[in-house]
Amino acid sequence: MKTAQVNGNNIVIKDIETLTLNGRKGAIVKVLGCGLCGSDIVKFKHQIVKDGAVLGHEIVATIEEIDSETSFKVGEKIVTSHHIPCFECTYCKHGNFSMCEHFKETNIIPGGFSEKVFLSEEHLKNVAHRVPEQISDEEISFYEPLGCCIRAINRCNLTPNDKTLVIGLGSIGLLMSEALKAMGYNVIGCDILEDRIALAKEKGIESYNSLDLDVFEKVIKEKTNNYGIDAVFMTSGADKAIEVALKSIKLGGKILVFSSTPQNFGYANNEIYYKELTVMGSYSPSPKDLEESFILLATKKVDVKGLTTSYDFENIQQAFDDTISNKVFKAYIKINE
Ligand SMILES: [Zn+2]
Ligand SMILES: [Zn+2]
Repeated sequence: MKTAQVNGNNIVIKDIETLTLNGRKGAIVKVLGCGLCGSDIVKFKHQIVKDGAVLGHEIVATIEEIDSETSFKVGEKIVTSHHIPCFECTYCKHGNFSMCEHFKETNIIPGGFSEKVFLSEEHLKNVAHRVPEQISDEEISFYEPLGCCIRAINRCNLTPNDKTLVIGLGSIGLLMSEALKAMGYNVIGCDILEDRIALAKEKGIESYNSLDLDVFEKVIKEKTNNYGIDAVFMTSGADKAIEVALKSIKLGGKILVFSSTPQNFGYANNEIYYKELTVMGSYSPSPKDLEESFILLATKKVDVKGLTTSYDFENIQQAFDDTISNKVFKAYIKINE
């Protein structure tokens, strides 16, 4: 079977021995397609993974072989995620599921950019869902990334109608904005790229250009009766985004850190102290966040139609290149018919 492997600065398709269950509990699935995640790009570009690694985790697949206590059957189409918490350790007990050792160790094998993948029984029990007929493979492939957004929103413990700001309107920022709206909060989005602002507006998100910070600050004041934003979601990896957040935040507000920044500088102590800010991070979703994501997608409350650009498996390198050069919003790799 074919897999796409990291090989230095390239992604190459290589043949490896076809997977079978071979006595294991779980399932062998035929991967229909897999979304290309920002984290795949980071791992590839900064050579965080070794040669031979198979990236990808946002898979939609059909079950080919199964030995499981779950009710999944051969032939069914499912969507799944890659990590599962143990639910027992000190991190899990405090709700920090993505810090759990077991969470970090578990994965789909060999990775999503592969003709076939092995899913453990734990995957089937905790993070796999049957894909309903009315939703396309590309749309349901947002299951894991949307789950990440929901996790971030749930961490903020907001009150209905709270005013939120999403800084950065790339694919994750747009998903975050749509999720906030679907969950009943007021959302404003901002970016410095006009085409992203236009797309967000098309999806019904009130969005502004934050390049001129004085102008943007006025907009925020006007929209919030001078109070500022209850919760700011940092989906942009630009250092400048921190300034935008501090200009927009309400006294006592929350800043949710959702991406790394190149300079690795952060929020000044005195800003946090005198404004009683809460600054917190959010990384990866729990099974419960993923379930919420699945429902929002399946009921189309979060509309991801038309956000992906599809690539054939042989052209996966192009998908990486186009994503790195911001030519596409979100790449999806078609692997099997
Ligand atoms: Zn992802
Ligand atoms: Zn744990």
